[in-house]
Amino acid sequence: MTHEIILALLCVIGVGLHWQFSLALHTFFLHRYHTHGQFSMSVYWQRFFYILTFLLQGPAFLKPETYRKLHLAHHEFSDTVKDPHSPSNYLIGRTTHKFWEPLFVMMLDTKKIFREIQENKHWISKRYEAKIAIDWKGFETVSNSKEATLLMGALYILLWCLVIPYWILLVFLPIILLNGPLQGAIVNWFGHVKGTRNFETDDNSRNTPCAPLMNGELYQNNHHQFPESPNLGYGPGDFDPIYHLMIRPLLALRIIKLSSKAKRELIAIKWWRANLRKSPSA
Ligand SMILES: [Zn+2]
Ligand SMILES: [Zn+2]
Repeated sequence: MTHEIILALLCVIGVGLHWQFSLALHTFFLHRYHTHGQFSMSVYWQRFFYILTFLLQGPAFLKPETYRKLHLAHHEFSDTVKDPHSPSNYLIGRTTHKFWEPLFVMMLDTKKIFREIQENKHWISKRYEAKIAIDWKGFETVSNSKEATLLMGALYILLWCLVIPYWILLVFLPIILLNGPLQGAIVNWFGHVKGTRNFETDDNSRNTPCAPLMNGELYQNNHHQFPESPNLGYGPGDFDPIYHLMIRPLLALRIIKLSSKAKRELIAIKWWRANLRKSPSA
Protein backbone atom coordinates (compact mmCIF):
# COMPACT_ATOMS: atom_id res chain seq x y z
CA MET A 1 0.00 0.00 0.00
CA THR A 2 2.80 2.44 0.97
CA HIS A 3 4.53 1.54 -2.28
CA GLU A 4 1.38 2.41 -4.27
CA ILE A 5 0.94 5.74 -2.47
CA ILE A 6 4.55 6.66 -3.27
CA LEU A 7 3.93 5.75 -6.92
CA ALA A 8 0.76 7.88 -7.01
CA LEU A 9 2.66 10.80 -5.45
CA LEU A 10 5.45 10.39 -7.99
CA CYS A 11 2.82 10.59 -10.76
CA VAL A 12 1.41 13.84 -9.38
CA ILE A 13 4.95 15.25 -9.08
CA GLY A 14 5.62 14.05 -12.65
CA VAL A 15 2.54 15.92 -13.94
CA GLY A 16 3.68 19.06 -12.10
CA LEU A 17 7.21 18.79 -13.48
CA HIS A 18 6.00 18.18 -17.03
CA TRP A 19 3.69 21.19 -16.73
CA GLN A 20 6.55 23.37 -15.47
CA PHE A 21 9.04 22.22 -18.12
CA SER A 22 6.56 22.62 -20.98
CA LEU A 23 5.64 26.09 -19.68
CA ALA A 24 9.35 26.93 -19.36
CA LEU A 25 9.89 26.18 -23.06
CA HIS A 26 6.63 27.93 -23.98
CA THR A 27 7.74 31.17 -22.32
CA PHE A 28 11.46 30.87 -23.16
CA PHE A 29 11.30 29.78 -26.79
CA LEU A 30 7.86 30.72 -28.17
CA HIS A 31 7.22 33.89 -26.17
CA ARG A 32 10.45 35.60 -25.14
CA TYR A 33 12.69 34.43 -27.98
CA HIS A 34 10.59 33.98 -31.11
CA THR A 35 7.82 36.51 -30.44
CA HIS A 36 9.64 39.37 -28.70
CA GLY A 37 13.20 38.70 -29.89
CA GLN A 38 14.59 39.51 -26.43
CA PHE A 39 17.72 37.47 -27.21
CA SER A 40 19.41 35.67 -30.06
CA MET A 41 21.06 32.25 -30.37
CA SER A 42 22.86 30.16 -32.99
CA VAL A 43 20.96 28.03 -35.51
CA TYR A 44 22.11 24.92 -33.62
CA TRP A 45 20.59 26.07 -30.32
CA GLN A 46 17.51 27.39 -32.10
CA ARG A 47 16.85 23.90 -33.46
CA PHE A 48 17.64 22.29 -30.10
CA PHE A 49 15.05 24.42 -28.27
CA TYR A 50 12.56 24.03 -31.14
CA ILE A 51 12.70 20.22 -30.82
CA LEU A 52 12.54 20.40 -27.01
CA THR A 53 9.43 22.62 -27.17
CA PHE A 54 7.80 20.18 -29.60
CA LEU A 55 8.57 17.18 -27.38
CA LEU A 56 7.36 18.86 -24.19
CA GLN A 57 4.18 20.32 -25.67
CA GLY A 58 3.48 17.13 -27.60
CA PRO A 59 -0.01 17.03 -29.15
CA ALA A 60 -0.61 20.62 -27.92
CA PHE A 61 2.46 22.01 -29.73
CA LEU A 62 1.89 25.63 -30.79
CA LYS A 63 3.39 26.55 -34.15
CA PRO A 64 5.95 29.29 -33.30
CA GLU A 65 5.06 31.57 -36.22
CA THR A 66 1.29 31.42 -35.56
CA TYR A 67 1.79 31.91 -31.84
CA ARG A 68 4.04 34.93 -32.55
CA LYS A 69 1.43 36.67 -34.73
CA LEU A 70 -1.44 35.98 -32.32
CA HIS A 71 0.59 37.23 -29.36
CA LEU A 72 1.85 40.41 -31.09
CA ALA A 73 -1.78 41.28 -31.93
CA HIS A 74 -2.55 40.80 -28.22
CA HIS A 75 0.16 43.37 -27.38
CA GLU A 76 -0.77 45.89 -30.08
CA PHE A 77 -4.53 45.80 -29.44
CA SER A 78 -4.45 44.72 -25.80
CA ASP A 79 -7.92 44.48 -24.26
CA THR A 80 -9.67 46.14 -27.19
CA VAL A 81 -12.15 44.41 -29.49
CA LYS A 82 -9.28 43.65 -31.88
CA ASP A 83 -7.35 41.73 -29.18
CA PRO A 84 -7.65 38.06 -30.21
CA HIS A 85 -6.99 36.83 -26.69
CA SER A 86 -8.53 39.20 -24.13
CA PRO A 87 -10.86 38.37 -21.22
CA SER A 88 -12.42 41.86 -21.53
CA ASN A 89 -14.25 40.74 -24.67
CA TYR A 90 -15.79 37.84 -22.76
CA LEU A 91 -16.67 39.57 -19.49
CA ILE A 92 -18.53 42.71 -20.68
CA GLY A 93 -22.25 42.35 -19.99
CA ARG A 94 -21.86 39.01 -18.18
CA THR A 95 -23.41 38.53 -14.78
CA THR A 96 -22.11 35.01 -14.05
CA HIS A 97 -19.53 34.51 -11.33
CA LYS A 98 -18.40 31.28 -12.91
CA PHE A 99 -15.20 32.56 -14.50
CA TRP A 100 -14.52 29.20 -16.18
CA GLU A 101 -17.51 29.64 -18.55
CA PRO A 102 -16.18 32.73 -20.42
CA LEU A 103 -12.63 31.37 -19.97
CA PHE A 104 -13.63 28.18 -21.77
CA VAL A 105 -15.34 30.17 -24.56
CA MET A 106 -12.20 32.31 -24.93
CA MET A 107 -10.10 29.15 -25.24
CA LEU A 108 -12.34 27.77 -27.99
CA ASP A 109 -12.36 31.10 -29.86
CA THR A 110 -8.56 31.35 -29.59
CA LYS A 111 -8.24 27.86 -31.05
CA LYS A 112 -10.38 28.98 -34.03
CA ILE A 113 -8.36 32.21 -34.53
CA PHE A 114 -5.10 30.26 -34.21
CA ARG A 115 -6.24 27.90 -36.97
CA GLU A 116 -7.32 30.83 -39.20
CA ILE A 117 -3.95 32.60 -38.75
CA GLN A 118 -2.15 29.34 -39.54
CA GLU A 119 -4.18 28.98 -42.74
CA ASN A 120 -3.62 32.66 -43.70
CA LYS A 121 -7.37 33.35 -43.45
CA HIS A 122 -7.19 35.94 -40.64
CA TRP A 123 -6.26 39.66 -40.90
CA ILE A 124 -3.54 39.05 -38.29
CA SER A 125 -1.75 36.62 -40.67
CA LYS A 126 -0.13 39.30 -42.80
CA ARG A 127 0.32 42.08 -40.23
CA TYR A 128 3.56 41.09 -38.46
CA GLU A 129 6.98 40.66 -39.99
CA ALA A 130 9.27 38.16 -38.27
CA LYS A 131 12.13 39.56 -36.16
CA ILE A 132 13.75 36.16 -35.89
CA ALA A 133 13.53 33.67 -38.72
CA ILE A 134 13.31 29.99 -37.91
CA ASP A 135 14.60 28.62 -41.16
CA TRP A 136 13.78 24.97 -40.74
CA LYS A 137 10.91 24.30 -43.10
CA GLY A 138 11.25 20.49 -42.93
CA PHE A 139 10.77 20.26 -39.17
CA GLU A 140 8.15 23.03 -39.24
CA THR A 141 6.05 21.06 -41.74
CA VAL A 142 6.42 17.78 -39.84
CA SER A 143 5.83 19.24 -36.36
CA ASN A 144 2.67 21.03 -37.49
CA SER A 145 1.13 18.12 -39.36
CA LYS A 146 -2.03 16.36 -38.15
CA GLU A 147 -0.05 13.10 -38.21
CA ALA A 148 2.52 14.50 -35.74
CA THR A 149 -0.26 15.72 -33.41
CA LEU A 150 -1.95 12.30 -33.49
CA LEU A 151 1.33 10.44 -33.05
CA MET A 152 2.41 12.59 -30.09
CA GLY A 153 -1.08 12.27 -28.55
CA ALA A 154 -0.91 8.46 -28.89
CA LEU A 155 2.63 8.39 -27.45
CA TYR A 156 1.65 10.53 -24.46
CA ILE A 157 -1.40 8.33 -23.73
CA LEU A 158 0.65 5.14 -24.13
CA LEU A 159 3.37 6.41 -21.76
CA TRP A 160 0.75 7.38 -19.22
CA CYS A 161 -1.00 4.02 -19.38
CA LEU A 162 2.37 2.31 -18.88
CA VAL A 163 3.47 4.30 -15.82
CA ILE A 164 0.34 5.20 -13.80
CA PRO A 165 -0.48 2.91 -10.88
CA TYR A 166 -4.17 3.98 -10.65
CA TRP A 167 -6.59 4.67 -13.50
CA ILE A 168 -8.04 7.55 -11.48
CA LEU A 169 -4.82 9.46 -12.21
CA LEU A 170 -5.95 9.69 -15.83
CA VAL A 171 -7.85 12.82 -14.71
CA PHE A 172 -4.49 14.61 -15.11
CA LEU A 173 -4.09 13.47 -18.71
CA PRO A 174 -6.12 16.34 -20.32
CA ILE A 175 -3.83 18.85 -18.52
CA ILE A 176 -0.84 17.22 -20.21
CA LEU A 177 -2.53 16.80 -23.61
CA LEU A 178 -3.70 20.44 -23.70
CA ASN A 179 -0.76 22.08 -21.88
CA GLY A 180 0.06 24.76 -24.52
CA PRO A 181 -3.46 26.24 -24.99
CA LEU A 182 -4.20 25.89 -21.25
CA GLN A 183 -1.14 27.92 -20.33
CA GLY A 184 -2.03 30.62 -22.86
CA ALA A 185 -5.59 30.81 -21.51
CA ILE A 186 -4.53 30.97 -17.83
CA VAL A 187 -1.88 33.65 -18.47
CA ASN A 188 -4.05 35.86 -20.63
CA TRP A 189 -7.13 35.47 -18.48
CA PHE A 190 -5.78 35.92 -14.95
CA GLY A 191 -2.98 38.25 -16.07
CA HIS A 192 -5.64 40.67 -17.34
CA VAL A 193 -8.28 40.24 -14.64
CA LYS A 194 -6.77 39.66 -11.18
CA GLY A 195 -3.83 41.33 -9.45
CA THR A 196 -2.02 44.63 -8.99
CA ARG A 197 -0.57 47.19 -11.39
CA ASN A 198 2.85 48.85 -11.30
CA PHE A 199 2.12 50.85 -14.47
CA GLU A 200 -0.93 52.65 -15.84
CA THR A 201 -0.80 50.91 -19.21
CA ASP A 202 -3.66 51.36 -21.69
CA ASP A 203 -4.86 47.80 -21.07
CA ASN A 204 -6.11 45.86 -18.03
CA SER A 205 -2.88 43.91 -17.49
CA ARG A 206 -2.12 42.80 -13.92
CA ASN A 207 0.71 41.25 -11.89
CA THR A 208 -0.49 38.31 -9.83
CA PRO A 209 1.22 36.94 -6.70
CA CYS A 210 1.29 33.37 -8.07
CA ALA A 211 3.29 34.49 -11.15
CA PRO A 212 6.40 32.45 -10.16
CA LEU A 213 4.29 29.26 -10.42
CA MET A 214 3.55 30.20 -14.04
CA ASN A 215 7.25 30.81 -14.70
CA GLY A 216 6.87 34.58 -14.47
CA GLU A 217 4.23 34.82 -17.21
CA LEU A 218 1.61 36.24 -14.85
CA TYR A 219 3.59 39.48 -14.42
CA GLN A 220 1.50 40.75 -17.33
CA ASN A 221 1.46 44.41 -16.28
CA ASN A 222 5.28 44.46 -16.03
CA HIS A 223 5.48 42.65 -19.36
CA HIS A 224 3.13 45.01 -21.21
CA GLN A 225 5.13 48.00 -19.97
CA PHE A 226 8.49 46.54 -21.06
CA PRO A 227 7.75 43.71 -23.55
CA GLU A 228 11.38 43.35 -24.63
CA SER A 229 12.69 42.87 -21.09
CA PRO A 230 13.77 39.24 -20.49
CA ASN A 231 12.99 39.75 -16.79
CA LEU A 232 9.23 39.88 -16.24
CA GLY A 233 9.39 39.95 -12.45
CA TYR A 234 11.26 43.16 -11.73
CA GLY A 235 8.91 44.86 -9.24
CA PRO A 236 9.49 44.78 -5.46
CA GLY A 237 9.10 41.19 -4.21
CA ASP A 238 8.75 39.76 -7.74
CA PHE A 239 10.64 36.68 -8.87
CA ASP A 240 10.76 35.48 -12.47
CA PRO A 241 12.17 31.91 -12.39
CA ILE A 242 12.83 31.78 -16.13
CA TYR A 243 14.95 34.91 -16.05
CA HIS A 244 16.99 33.93 -13.00
CA LEU A 245 17.24 30.16 -13.48
CA MET A 246 17.33 29.83 -17.25
CA ILE A 247 18.06 33.07 -19.12
CA ARG A 248 20.85 34.32 -16.83
CA PRO A 249 22.78 30.99 -16.85
CA LEU A 250 22.34 30.73 -20.64
CA LEU A 251 23.67 34.30 -20.98
CA ALA A 252 26.62 33.45 -18.75
CA LEU A 253 27.35 30.37 -20.89
CA ARG A 254 27.06 32.57 -24.01
CA ILE A 255 24.39 30.29 -25.49
CA ILE A 256 22.09 33.29 -25.89
CA LYS A 257 22.80 37.01 -26.35
CA LEU A 258 20.51 39.88 -25.30
CA SER A 259 19.09 42.11 -28.05
CA SER A 260 19.95 45.81 -27.90
CA LYS A 261 16.30 46.66 -27.11
CA ALA A 262 16.30 44.15 -24.23
CA LYS A 263 19.44 45.82 -22.82
CA ARG A 264 17.80 49.27 -23.09
CA GLU A 265 14.67 48.06 -21.32
CA LEU A 266 16.70 46.47 -18.49
CA ILE A 267 18.42 49.86 -17.97
CA ALA A 268 15.02 51.63 -17.99
CA ILE A 269 13.82 49.12 -15.36
CA LYS A 270 16.86 49.89 -13.17
CA TRP A 271 15.93 53.58 -13.31
CA TRP A 272 12.32 52.80 -12.49
CA ARG A 273 13.38 50.71 -9.46
CA ALA A 274 15.81 53.41 -8.27
CA ASN A 275 13.06 56.06 -8.48
CA LEU A 276 10.69 53.75 -6.65
CA ARG A 277 13.14 53.50 -3.73
CA LYS A 278 13.48 57.31 -3.64
CA SER A 279 9.70 57.81 -3.74
CA PRO A 280 8.22 58.59 -0.24
CA SER A 281 5.27 56.24 -0.90
CA ALA A 282 7.61 53.30 -1.66
ZN1 LIG B 1 -1.13 40.30 -21.88
ZN1 LIG C 1 4.39 39.12 -24.75
